[in-house]
Amino acid sequence: MAAGSGVPARFDLPEIDAFSRPYWDAAADGRLLLRRCGACGRAHHYPREFCPHCWSEAVTWERASGRATLYTWSVVHRNDLPPFGARTPYVAAVVDLAEGPRMMTEVVECGEADLRVGMALEVTFRAEAEAEAGRAQGGAAGEAKGGAAGAVVVPVFRPDPSSGSGVGRC
Ligand SMILES: [Zn+2]
Repeated sequence: MAAGSGVPARFDLPEIDAFSRPYWDAAADGRLLLRRCGACGRAHHYPREFCPHCWSEAVTWERASGRATLYTWSVVHRNDLPPFGARTPYVAAVVDLAEGPRMMTEVVECGEADLRVGMALEVTFRAEAEAEAGRAQGGAAGEAKGGAAGAVVVPVFRPDPSSGSGVGRC
């Protein structure tokens, strides 16, 4: 598992800083956050401190509906970066959030053959066990949140069971 150095490396965990912490705290609480611009009104993702459309800094956090449609995907059968190798095959995807932004994510709970462009998806959340040796990286351990301490919760998407279209039912 260790790639030579003896330190288990992981490539799936975000580096959480003061700016992005509200996003990860919300995810741990089961909420997907977006950033919306007060100047032009557009939402964006990933979160930035300024609006990528008009450069305004009047940007605030907003809870997303969690609804999205599948734009494109790739079924990954091999990934040498730990821990992804242990997860293959998985569905790396780009989804269109209902609020407009396009988001890179993963589609879960859906067979490869059932994936369809435009299928309705809903956000769900997955706790990633944090690397044993990786805790010291990127921040004070004392800031670990209650509840899921030691874990990072990431948003992923699954087929929307309330979608009555018949598209993408798994
Ligand atoms: Zn803007």
